[in-house]
Amino acid sequence: CGIVGYVGPQNALDVVLEGLRRLEYRGYDSAGVAVVVDGVLTTAKKAGKLANLEKVLADQGLPAATTGLGHTRWATHGGPTDRNAHPHVSADGQVAVVHNGIIENFAALRAECEATGTEFSSDTDTEVVAHLLAAVYPTLPESPDRLAEALRRVSRRLEGAFTLVATHAAEPHTMVASRRNSPLVVGVGDGEYFLGSDVAAFIGHTRHALDVGQDEVVEIDRTRGVTVTDFTGRVVEPPSRTVDWDA
Ligand code: GLU
Repeated sequence: CGIVGYVGPQNALDVVLEGLRRLEYRGYDSAGVAVVVDGVLTTAKKAGKLANLEKVLADQGLPAATTGLGHTRWATHGGPTDRNAHPHVSADGQVAVVHNGIIENFAALRAECEATGTEFSSDTDTEVVAHLLAAVYPTLPESPDRLAEALRRVSRRLEGAFTLVATHAAEPHTMVASRRNSPLVVGVGDGEYFLGSDVAAFIGHTRHALDVGQDEVVEIDRTRGVTVTDFTGRVVEPPSRTVDWDA
């Protein structure tokens, strides 16, 4: 339902929680966050209001990080429980994914993953994306757009509506996102970059927005900045705008 992603110099958890609060108006039944630091991915998620998640965070104490993502969920597949809340993490603990929308062909993809021994830990349509990304990433050659290429390959296999944001423990300053039939915007700050399901996700930090088009993948990286491609990898120039409403 609501999505925030961040790479930059600030405390990512603060930025992500602020964005999720600004997205609360959309309604949701659960919430979660993930951060990456020192090659380790850590998540926290909870059914109910953001206050419930904040209590978990206070108890659990997430490591300080400058890369993070968050989600408020409006359940479509699987009840509004802790385990079905996003982010969803691959079985190897390397990939975290948040998703808005519905992946129509998730059952076939899930069966394919289960046939190779992958155990699922939720009832969502989303979780399959984390496992597929974790499976394809190691097969790709090392390159700056390795994670983006993994997401392009997985996105080509998905049917339905999705805004997806993903992060990998091995790429602590990079985040990737993909969309089809569901909105995705990039916020461009000064040495920091944001991803959002709408501009409310980052309006407290920057007014410079890039619109990601249908069937496109975006990578935000602290040193390389923003790169948008179509699902085949062809680079596209995203339309840029200044958000002028008051927040
Ligand atoms: N279909 C996904 C789920 O049920 C995402 C729902 C949403 O858009 O929040 O978990």
